Amino acid sequence: MSDITTVLNKKYFDFNDIVTLLSIEDEIHMQKIFNKSLEVKTKTIGRNVYLRGLIEYSNICRKNCLYCGIRKDNSNVNRYTLTHDEVMEAVRYTYKNGLGSIVIQSGELLGKTFIDIIEEYVKEIHSTYPELLITLSCGEQSLEVYRRWYDAGARRYLLRIESSDKILYYKIHPHDQYHSFETRKKVLNDLRTTCYQVGTGVMIGLPDQTVEHLAKDLIFFRDLDVDMIGMGPFIEHSETPLYDRRSDLWPLKKRFEKSLLMIAILRIMMPTINIAASTALASIDSQGRQKGLLAGANVVMPNVTPFYKKVNYRLYENKPGLYLNESQNLKTIHDGIKDYGEHICYNDPGIPLHYKNNNF
Ligand code: SAH
Ligand code: SF4
Repeated sequence: MSDITTVLNKKYFDFNDIVTLLSIEDEIHMQKIFNKSLEVKTKTIGRNVYLRGLIEYSNICRKNCLYCGIRKDNSNVNRYTLTHDEVMEAVRYTYKNGLGSIVIQSGELLGKTFIDIIEEYVKEIHSTYPELLITLSCGEQSLEVYRRWYDAGARRYLLRIESSDKILYYKIHPHDQYHSFETRKKVLNDLRTTCYQVGTGVMIGLPDQTVEHLAKDLIFFRDLDVDMIGMGPFIEHSETPLYDRRSDLWPLKKRFEKSLLMIAILRIMMPTINIAASTALASIDSQGRQKGLLAGANVVMPNVTPFYKKVNYRLYENKPGLYLNESQNLKTIHDGIKDYGEHICYNDPGIPLHYKNNNF
């Protein structure tokens, strides 16, 4: 194995460098990578944390991703769509508490009703709270729909590639027209041609996933020149087909450590992008988000969905904060972060320096 310090001092990581770093398992060497990443973050974007209010708008989905608890064929899910009052109250709460951006995430629907209603919400939020940056994560849509939503006022779009390896992608999705790897890639490339700040990401610790797959994912992010990344551990859900593979999974501790390593290596590779400390990290370790920030992340997304609805938005099991109401949830996150030497930026959308450098 190459010496880790030599690799860490390189200006540009190639595939083998990334595999070397991702393969590290001992604490001392992992800590070296986290130290380097924190140093890079401190020097380039500072130890600033940006908050986004996450609204889980609807758990109705046309898709059947094999890992996801709200997949179409899971008949145990109590399906909901937030009412107008619930959405606007969550937005008001986000604004009032100084979270700089609102994220509308949803199961994927394509019909006119869904597209129109998201457009209407974006317009209403934009005109009521012009300072609040609007982020959407509503699945694969046509370029025309993305443009309409942009014109209505949305400025960020999040769509995880889930895995950049075609073979692995089809091990975690049905192989049919609704779950096409080529379409997912095309949609991301379409988004890259728009003025949106574009975010993607992957799950870490999927069945049959190797460090080589993960290294490929990091190179995919760099090649796509993304502005934002959200990635975190895969967590099995008993009402999904992938649950049958649970005995083949990496132990949770290893999924957690590899997730932190992914964040750290990516921060060194792409110092000026936004990287989220995902909620899934906190479902394995109560300090998961904070550890994510120390590994190089700079974004946290408190959930602002009404708590009596979000219990039904269970993508994976053991989701943290499910039974806390919005203000308890926010307080837990706020108190958890400030003791770690990070500075929380309120009322700031936290536009990635990477995007500013490319667009202004
Ligand atoms: N429907 C949209 C957005 C909602 S799903 C979409 O799929 O793009 C948001 C993210 O949750 C997915 O991108 C996926 O990476 C993550 N997710 C789903 N099931 C998960 C699981 N079992 N463990 C960890 N993350 C999961
Ligand atoms: Fe639907 Fe997204 Fe879940 Fe897939 S990951 S089933 S698209 S909500």
